[in-house]
Amino acid sequence: MASSILMIIYDGIGDRPVKELDNRTPLEAAKTPNLDRMAKKGINGIMDTIAPGIIPGSDTGHLALLGYDPFKVYTGRGPFEAAGIGIEVEPGDIAFRCNFSTIEEGLITNRRAGRIKEGTKELSDSINQIDIGIDFVFQEGVEHRGVLIFKEDGLGSNVSDVDPHEEGVPYLTSKPISDNEDDTRTAEILNEFTKKSMKILSDHPVNELRVDMGERPANIVLARGSGTVPHIRSLPERTGMKCAAIAGIPLVRGVCLMAGMDIIEVDGATGGMDTDIEAIYLRAKEAMKEYDFVLVNIKGCDLSGHDGLAHEKVEFIERLDRELKILEGLEEHYIAFTGDHSTPVLVKDHSGDSLPLTIVGPQVRSDGVTSYDERSCVRGGLSRLSGQDLLNVLMDLSGHGEKFGA
Ligand code: ZN
Ligand code: ZN
Repeated sequence: MASSILMIIYDGIGDRPVKELDNRTPLEAAKTPNLDRMAKKGINGIMDTIAPGIIPGSDTGHLALLGYDPFKVYTGRGPFEAAGIGIEVEPGDIAFRCNFSTIEEGLITNRRAGRIKEGTKELSDSINQIDIGIDFVFQEGVEHRGVLIFKEDGLGSNVSDVDPHEEGVPYLTSKPISDNEDDTRTAEILNEFTKKSMKILSDHPVNELRVDMGERPANIVLARGSGTVPHIRSLPERTGMKCAAIAGIPLVRGVCLMAGMDIIEVDGATGGMDTDIEAIYLRAKEAMKEYDFVLVNIKGCDLSGHDGLAHEKVEFIERLDRELKILEGLEEHYIAFTGDHSTPVLVKDHSGDSLPLTIVGPQVRSDGVTSYDERSCVRGGLSRLSGQDLLNVLMDLSGHGEKFGA
């Protein structure tokens, strides 16, 4: 009987040596007795999620971890973000990421409409009433964020942003980036959307109230990052496995949804530093009974990496480690511990540095590595793996692989 697979993705865990940590990485500096025990039992290596030196986004990184070639299926963040906040997207739809912003006397004075928190649902409802000649959906996300989907055949996605990406300047007119008529049409429709939505937002009751309260009105929608919803062969179809994901952030949920995975909700899983790690591990363990493959994404390390907070990253890693005892009892299954990319605290963004990888399970060739970190795992039996190969390795180990040839 085949075992199940648990892939634990510590988002942004990889790092570089940090002076204030005595030239250790946060993972090296953190006390991680449980992860170290896994490294001792397991087979180890380092992993380039996409390719050496290629800096992954969380979306492209997870696509690779699910065995897709991001260079082939990735057209932009919009489609994944849209799927992640619950819009039903279909291959061929055009998706944009959007901000509610503030425009005053023709200039964008606040790109986030003062980080608007309330009323965006009402604003979205009104926006969805406008007529731009095609079917479309606008949906608000967290705070000032939103997603716009054009549901129409024959539209291209190679168009420039309406969002000027800075304040104190006018908004931009979207232009086709190619000579393709499909792109020209998309740009025209997007420009019409911008004008008509601005009109309906300008005297919207939500905005009148905001102005009365001394807050920034959300009186324009700035679209950016257009992308076509890709044709993706679903993971269950491709692998024959029943697949699920636990992920706090919409972008990763979107990738997993588009890959045809079930999304498991976990109370208290926020995608923030305050996320309930215990609840996530418990739910993942439970899901192993029902699914052949479960992916878990926990975000915290990435956040402290972006903020440049080395000690906070160390503490979060120690919390990830402390709760790991919950996974005891899964010894007949295969568990991988890795990340989707490095987010070094000195870079304050993602980097192409390889990631530590440990796989534990009943039949792995343990390799003498005794510590789970970037430099120790180099000496392990998996050597250097590409992210796209990880799922194949896990499927092979767990009895879900298929012979190639006779
Ligand atoms: Zn990430
Ligand atoms: Zn990040």
